[in-house]
Amino acid sequence: MKIIFATGNENKLTEIRKILSDLDVEVVSMKEAGIRADIVEDGKTFAENALIKARTICKACGEITMSDDSGLVIDALGGEPGIYSARYMGEDTSYHIKNNNLIERLQGVPDEKRTARFMCDVACVFPDGREIVCEGTFEGRIGYEEKGSNGFGYDPIFYVPEKGCTSAELSPSEKNAISHRGKALREMRAKLGEML
Ligand code: IMP
Repeated sequence: MKIIFATGNENKLTEIRKILSDLDVEVVSMKEAGIRADIVEDGKTFAENALIKARTICKACGEITMSDDSGLVIDALGGEPGIYSARYMGEDTSYHIKNNNLIERLQGVPDEKRTARFMCDVACVFPDGREIVCEGTFEGRIGYEEKGSNGFGYDPIFYVPEKGCTSAELSPSEKNAISHRGKALREMRAKLGEML
């Protein structure tokens, strides 16, 4: 069974292949499948955006299609950057600048109000119209400086209380075990396993 994963991100592909490895499915990237699409992600939630991507690609290629959408939600900033996490301050702005801007905006905010979470929604759309959406969350707090060099994006400012360090200080397998994406993908594996 073939599943198209609607992403250009190699790290996501490696992760999803690992998590789905015990199912009898071949995960193929859009590039490998020769699919190109400009998708307008104009949903209001992570789930809507994940579904928009998966529905569009599924319609274009007629194969089972999976996609994900994720981001960082900071409570003291009314949920920002949220679904705009990748676009926050512009796609080409470095995460060093974005991270320091967020720390700056939280100046004076005490520990207990610096709560935040990474969220990830994974959608799977079948050519016959069936759809599955799974959501994973990863709770933490925004730190006071960048720490660690693993991971990507906002990881250096995402302090994980249960680990006593930022998610950029966790190894990839430690992060996958507790992360928003890991949780959503493992739930998806369980649901897909029941359907295939
Ligand atoms: P997506 O690839 O459209 O889902 O965009 C997700 C964006 O959210 C990324 O570009 C990052 O800015 C942020 N993000 C999502 N997950 C993580 C994570 O695990 N660590 C750090 N940043 C993340």
